[in-house]
Amino acid sequence: MAQGPYKLVSREFQPEPTVVTIGGVTVGGPDVVVMAGPCAVETQDQLLDAARAVKAAGAQLLRGGAFKPRTSPYSFQGHGEEGLRLLAAARAETGLPVVTEIMDPRDVDLVCRYADVLQVGARNCQNFALLRELGRAQRPVLLKRGMHVTVDELLQAAEYIVAGGNTQVILAERGIRTFETATRNTLDLSAVPVLKERTHLPVLVDPTHGTGYSRYVPAMARAAVAAGADALLIEVHPCPEEAWCDGEQALTPEAFATLMRDVRRVAAVVREPAVAATP
Ligand code: PEP
Ligand code: MN
Repeated sequence: MAQGPYKLVSREFQPEPTVVTIGGVTVGGPDVVVMAGPCAVETQDQLLDAARAVKAAGAQLLRGGAFKPRTSPYSFQGHGEEGLRLLAAARAETGLPVVTEIMDPRDVDLVCRYADVLQVGARNCQNFALLRELGRAQRPVLLKRGMHVTVDELLQAAEYIVAGGNTQVILAERGIRTFETATRNTLDLSAVPVLKERTHLPVLVDPTHGTGYSRYVPAMARAAVAAGADALLIEVHPCPEEAWCDGEQALTPEAFATLMRDVRRVAAVVREPAVAATP
């Protein structure tokens, strides 16, 4: 029998949605899950301030980068294991499970010792050696769409992980590269219904990297939830103008609290079970 480019992640293979479980949090169920925190772990105070703020606003997971994929080798690359330790300390204080990026297949055991969800960044979406290694990992994976990667190629990338035995995969739309320069990337929200049709895996939208400017993030977060996203990833910094990376796109704690309130209102409309029509 001819084998398509992906099978295990397809709706035909598994009609019912996959629910990814992270401690007590479930992604792909009725609730929209929000993962938030700074782009990079900078200092203990910065991370703890961010963690407390996102928790107070209602985020369910803390995100922060310890290994940062920077375009220039001279930019801040992240604190590595020390950053992972700070994330674990922030989890111990707040109770929020931690999402953090993994870039190197050799770091899987290390990152698994500290993190609850392993993020594959856009630049590594088709790093097949990394994807294969994550297929053997005992942690959920957040797989970001590469900036040059089609929906079909994203699904094939996810297939590498699921075929390795790890079914706990969340797909992330984070914007693609187009001719448009008004935003950092072009957030392809049409990928949400397309993915929902083709796969049972939960779908997350990252309007932070998708737009690149904090002032556009709330509108696209609301739109993502209206389009059917199961989860959001939002960068929040206690003081965005002092951020070591991606400061232009980070929300202040106050702006994030407003976003959470508005997203909840959209979710209540689009995700509540429909009220039975009166005859
Ligand atoms: C990030 O999440 O901070 C990041 C680097 O994202 P992306 O891989 O989508 O560029
Ligand atoms: Mn970032």
